[in-house]
Amino acid sequence: MPNIIQYRNKCIGCGACVELQPGLWRMSKKDGKATLLNATIKNSIAILPVGKDMQKLQELITSCPVKIIQVI
Ligand code: SF4
Repeated sequence: MPNIIQYRNKCIGCGACVELQPGLWRMSKKDGKATLLNATIKNSIAILPVGKDMQKLQELITSCPVKIIQVI
C-alpha cells in the first residue's frame, strides 16, 4: 500500500491539497500549514498509508506548488 509523505515544515499554506482531498487534509489554524489527517509525524514529516487510486494521488503530487508531497 502506498504512503503519502508530506514535508510539513516546508508547506506554504496554499490550500491546494485541501481543495483536492478535503477528506484527507485540513489547514491548521495554528500555523497556517496543511495537516495530513491521521498521519504519523516524525521530524516534521507526515506519513499516511493510502488506497491505490494512483490518478488521484498523482493529481495531489502535482498540485503542490512547492513539491513537498510524495507518494512512495
Ligand atoms: S499543496 Fe503543498 S504547499 Fe499547498 S497547502 Fe498542501 S502541502 Fe502545503
